[in-house]
Amino acid sequence: MVDENNLGMYEGLCKDCGVRYMFPIEEESIFLCNSCIKKKYRKEMEIDRYQLEIISETQPLRLEKWHSVFIIMKDIVSGLDQELKAKKAELDGEIRSCPTDLLEESYGIPKITESAISQAIERHSDYTNILSLYREAIKRRDTIMGAVEGYRDRSSMIKTLKDLFTSQYFDRTESISLRKTEEKIASTVKVPKPLKRRKD
Ligand SMILES: [Zn+2]
Repeated sequence: MVDENNLGMYEGLCKDCGVRYMFPIEEESIFLCNSCIKKKYRKEMEIDRYQLEIISETQPLRLEKWHSVFIIMKDIVSGLDQELKAKKAELDGEIRSCPTDLLEESYGIPKITESAISQAIERHSDYTNILSLYREAIKRRDTIMGAVEGYRDRSSMIKTLKDLFTSQYFDRTESISLRKTEEKIASTVKVPKPLKRRKD
């Protein structure tokens, strides 16, 4: 339940840039605002091709970490969506049961019509407080989803690079053994070596 007097529980300070941000999630190495999350995962996207073995080991853990944060954030968004609907229904009931002479004073509408009720709900602070939290939660969820997608791409990039390195390795060993076979044949049949044979 959102307590509009205690929005502090939804706020944290970004540990990189120090700005206030919504929905700090208790997770090692997060506690970052949305724009620092973007910077962080873009930086972590870089792959050092000479560290492929180490990267392949840490990559699943990173993906898992961001994915678990994404699941938490997705639950927060759907919880706020439910709360928004419940608050709307609650206010709708209150407005309809309000005596006509108090409508203007309490809800700023002269009489009960469907559009007047909608307008009164949409500008009621109980409703707008939850709505702004909901919008912030969506932004945060989408930022974290971007990180998860980035790490998924990174996983397939690492796999491609590993495959590439593996195939190059086999190509090289194949060409070495081929050259040795050629030399062996050459020495056996005593074919004169070409005069301008390039040394490797
Ligand atoms: Zn930041």
